[in-house]
Amino acid sequence: MQFRDIPGHHRLKKLLIQSIQQGHIPHAQLFNGATGSANMAMALAMAQFVQCEAATEEDSCGKCFSCHKHKKLIHPDLHFVFPIAKTAEVGAKPTSQDFMNHWRPFLTSHPYPSLSDWLEEIQAENKQANIPVEESRQVIRMLSLKSYESQYKILVLWLPEMMKGPAANALLKVLEEPPAFTLFLLVGEDEKKLITTIRSRVQMIQIPAFTDSEVSTYLQHTLMLSGEQAKDVAYLADGNLHLALKLAQNPDDSSFVFFRDWMREVYMKNITGLVARADEFSGLKKESQKLTIEYGINLLREVLLWHSQSTGILRQSGEQLKFVQGLSKTLKPSVIELFFKLLNEALIHLERNANMKITFLDISLKIIPLMHTQ
Ligand SMILES: [Zn+2]
Repeated sequence: MQFRDIPGHHRLKKLLIQSIQQGHIPHAQLFNGATGSANMAMALAMAQFVQCEAATEEDSCGKCFSCHKHKKLIHPDLHFVFPIAKTAEVGAKPTSQDFMNHWRPFLTSHPYPSLSDWLEEIQAENKQANIPVEESRQVIRMLSLKSYESQYKILVLWLPEMMKGPAANALLKVLEEPPAFTLFLLVGEDEKKLITTIRSRVQMIQIPAFTDSEVSTYLQHTLMLSGEQAKDVAYLADGNLHLALKLAQNPDDSSFVFFRDWMREVYMKNITGLVARADEFSGLKKESQKLTIEYGINLLREVLLWHSQSTGILRQSGEQLKFVQGLSKTLKPSVIELFFKLLNEALIHLERNANMKITFLDISLKIIPLMHTQ
C-alpha cells in the first residue's frame, strides 16, 4: 500500500511522512477510525514507507525489493496480529500465524476491511472472535528476534480493542518496554474500548471518514463506475469505503429491492410475508445482513432529508428516488428516529450473534403501528 493509493487525507499523509523523515516516529501509534475508513490502509502505507529502500519526499517508491514484498504482504519484518476464532482448519490454541494463508489474500483484496468480512473469510461468521493471550506470547517471541532485512520490525495489530485481560496486559508490557527498532502500528475502530493503560502508551492518530467526493472519485478510478453511479453509491455509503465497495459491486442492487419489498409488506401489514422475509433475512450471510441493515439506515437518512426539503443533497435517482419520496409520505420524522434506533439495535444484535430471524420479525412488528400512526 502506498500513500498515493489512499484517497484524500493529504495533510495527515504529509505529517506521517515528515515524522518518518525527521526520525521522530513514535514507537507505538494507534490509527483510529471507523470501519471503511483509511485506518488500516494508512498503517500499511506507513509500514511500507518506513521499510522502503528508496522513498521520496512524498511516498514509498513502489519498486524496490522491500516495496515488492509489501505489495504481497510477505516482508519478513512486517508482522500481523488480528482477531481470530477457533475453526475446523486450525488447532486448539490458534494464533494469527495459523491464518496467514487467508489473511494475505484477504487484506490485499480488502484494504478497507471489516471484521465480519474477515470472519466470513475464515468461516467463523457465527463464532466469537478475539485476540487470545497466546498471541501476545507469540508477539513477544517474534519481536525479540533481530530484524531480517530492514532496520525496523513492524507489527500491525488490527482491532486491539478486542484484546482483553491477560492478552491486553501482555501487550501493555511489551509496549512499556519495546524492543529496539520496533514499531507498533495499532489499527482500531474504537479507542474508548481500549484499556486506558494501553491508550496512554500509544500516539493516537484519528482517521476521519472519507468525504463523498473522495469515495466517488475512488469508485470511478478503481471500479470504472460512471460519475453518476459513483455519486449515488458514495452518498449512501456516507464516508465508509468498505460499504461503498460492497454496494458498488452489488449490481443487482439487492439491498434496495429487499428493503423496498420489506417496507411494502410492513405497510400492508402482511404478516405471512414478513415471516417469510424474516426467514429470508436470517438465511443471508452475516455480512449481507449487516449490509442490508446499513443500507436501510442510509436510505432512511435520505427520507429525513427529503422531509427537511434538502432535496439538493439527495443523490438518488430513478426508482430509488421515487421510493424515498413515497416513504417520506408514510414515515414522519419522529417515526424515522425510532426506526433508526431499531435498526441500530439490530446491528448490535447481529454483532452478538443473536437469532436474526427473531430480531428481524420483532422490528417488523414494531414498525407496523409506527407506520400507521397519524
Ligand atoms: Zn520502495
